Amino acid sequence: MTRQSPAAVLNGVQVGNICDRCNKRVKTGDLVRAYATYYDADGWVVRRVWCDKCSSTTIGLPTDGADEVIVEAVYWSGRLVGAKTVDRSRP
Ligand SMILES: [Zn+2]
Repeated sequence: MTRQSPAAVLNGVQVGNICDRCNKRVKTGDLVRAYATYYDADGWVVRRVWCDKCSSTTIGLPTDGADEVIVEAVYWSGRLVGAKTVDRSRP
């Protein structure tokens, strides 16, 4: 089974509106970045969401061997829209 592109899967996914680093709210229309992991049982799951100011464009977290990705997207009424991959642990 081919693993779907994270950007395609995460586009439209529901996320919280609090930055996981500075605890500020993000508003509809704000640029955000999200860190997500892939496990066979769950597929792509968003683990963290950061506002534009706090976010990194590289994974930079300790890896546990999962397929990991950073996507950049616009926060829109509780969802990620226009998601695109900016970094991924596996090519
Ligand atoms: Zn922040």
